[in-house]
Amino acid sequence: MEGNHKADRGCTSNSGKLRELWRSIWGIQCQNRVKHFLWRACKNILPTNYNLKLRKVAIEDKCALCGKSESSGHILWGCKFVVDVWKETRLKLPRFQNLQHDFINVVWRLRDVRSEQDWDCFATTAWCLWKNRNSVKFKGRCKESKAIAREAENLVEEFLFKELNSCGIGVVIKNDEGQIMGAMSKKLDQPLGALEVEAKAVEEGVLLAKDLGLRHIIIEGDALTVMAALSGHTSPPSSIQHIIAGAQLWASSFSAWKSTHVRRNCNQAAHLMARNAKSIFECIIWVEDTPLLLSFKLHLK
Ligand SMILES: [Zn+2]
Repeated sequence: MEGNHKADRGCTSNSGKLRELWRSIWGIQCQNRVKHFLWRACKNILPTNYNLKLRKVAIEDKCALCGKSESSGHILWGCKFVVDVWKETRLKLPRFQNLQHDFINVVWRLRDVRSEQDWDCFATTAWCLWKNRNSVKFKGRCKESKAIAREAENLVEEFLFKELNSCGIGVVIKNDEGQIMGAMSKKLDQPLGALEVEAKAVEEGVLLAKDLGLRHIIIEGDALTVMAALSGHTSPPSSIQHIIAGAQLWASSFSAWKSTHVRRNCNQAAHLMARNAKSIFECIIWVEDTPLLLSFKLHLK
């Protein structure tokens, strides 16, 4: 518990400021377990190796990723592996010169620099970092920094759509020169699982291609299970069996079609369209036109 006192004393003598912090943590739009985790991280009561050594539960306090002392500030912010994960998020966080021993100091500084932070994403990324740390410590398995950042992003999206009791689909159709010919954002008013959403996106993509009068199509998706089932390499899981069968039937009406699995970062445009679905009424289709959202993003690159 020493860590706890230290965090409280070290960061602020102003209990009102601390109360305000707890209030904002509980107000973050994310899963309860994530909020609870962030609260524990800021209270400095996570079983980090540093805290375990302090409580004489462990002899060493080494970080399993880099070998330095594993305090909450280290494992959620300062560790060089963790720095890479934060870089992969869309948060564009400032890096602080001084190493922060306690995670609450990171949070204070971020609040000082930028109070209008995307705290949902911040808290969920920290939680995913902790999950990965546990996986390394107990199972010897470490995810890539990109995968951790994406996992957090997906969880944030899933949560927001769940709140709305809906999910979003994004489709982008390009010609063989890579120019956008059509795009779609569609909100489905049913809370589907991640796999079902990916399968539905494929089905909607095929239908949109049909509406555009295309004859040869290549279907690209980044969900490996869905793409493998669509191409007939594997049999689909039962939850998406009927959707895949439907998509295959529609696809067979084209002169030629094939499906390929692409990496998620090659499919960013479709993901932007899916996220955009959150803010629309039902469905928006762009034909021979680039949605403002995409042209803006593409110009940035
Ligand atoms: Zn480390």
